Amino acid sequence: MIYDCLVAGGGPAGLNTALYAGRAGLSCIIFEKMFAGGQMTQTLELDNYLGFKNSVSAIDLAMDMEEHAKKFGAEFKREEILSLELCGDIKKVVTKKGEYLAKTIVLSMGARPSKLGVPGEEEFRGNGVSYCATCDGAFYKGKTTCVIGGGDTALEDALFLARLCEKVYLIHRRDAFRGAKVLQDKVLANEKIEFVPDTVLEEIMGEASVTGVRAKNVKTEETFEIQTDGVFVAVGTKPNSELVTGFGITDERGYILTNEAMETAISGVYAAGDIRNKPLRQVITAAADGAIALNSALSYINERN
Ligand code: NAP
Repeated sequence: MIYDCLVAGGGPAGLNTALYAGRAGLSCIIFEKMFAGGQMTQTLELDNYLGFKNSVSAIDLAMDMEEHAKKFGAEFKREEILSLELCGDIKKVVTKKGEYLAKTIVLSMGARPSKLGVPGEEEFRGNGVSYCATCDGAFYKGKTTCVIGGGDTALEDALFLARLCEKVYLIHRRDAFRGAKVLQDKVLANEKIEFVPDTVLEEIMGEASVTGVRAKNVKTEETFEIQTDGVFVAVGTKPNSELVTGFGITDERGYILTNEAMETAISGVYAAGDIRNKPLRQVITAAADGAIALNSALSYINERN
């Protein structure tokens, strides 16, 4: 069988692509190696998704998105994509279980947390070093934690951990946050959160698990230690675009380049969501990308019929 649209990645971008495909009467298959929802499932609640004025559980919303796409006919495969063939009229996806063909493909594999690259980070990963506060925060009830970063993720992580922990240090390399003002205000008003500005980590220390960090103030050059039970790294993301390296559709950081119609430089190939080079990576913008990508795929299919 040749599907009309193949979707690589089941976050909000891919799920909305699949929903729109079903509603347009296209046959659609969507691949997700883990659970639907992608990175949004690492957030507890969303309070910036339009229409949910009392906030919504991110996991519940992800499950509803999957059900919604299924309701309109999307076929889900829990299979990891091993390789992609994007050039030519028929696109091909290879997994361990087989090969799948489609007229169009939407790349929505998302992004993953970046690493700090300091000594101790790898050694203590899973033993005090985490990249997901909502996944691992519960292990630190009543303890002290550090969050590294100054974006939305770091601010949200600090607020989430402050509900559980005795004390949260928010360590940022500058004195101004990148994250949303509404989150900044909450962080700065929270008595459990101590903001440590202009500071970078030099080392994560410990024995069986993390016991502290060595940090440096970049303005004064002073080096100091903070005792902590956990380090939550929230210093941005990297695109999951390894499968398309070599197709000439990514920028120098690996994000896929598209135009406003979500078209890549290869005809019949689109990108949507966090994997794309774009200014704002949120659930609502990912979902919107998916709708636009499918609309472009639909026009492409109609033109060729
Ligand atoms: P981000 O916005 O790229 O912020 C990364 C932060 O980490 C920045 O403050 C950056 O510092 C810092 N950083 C980067 N590399 C570092 C290093 N090597 N050492 C120390 N600090 C470093 O990443 P994010 O917070 O994960 O957010 C990613 C995207 O998801 C954004 O578009 C964000 O808006 C979105 N997001 C939205 C929500 C929401 O709407 N609720 C929640 C989470 C994420 P500088 O500021 O100095 O560059």
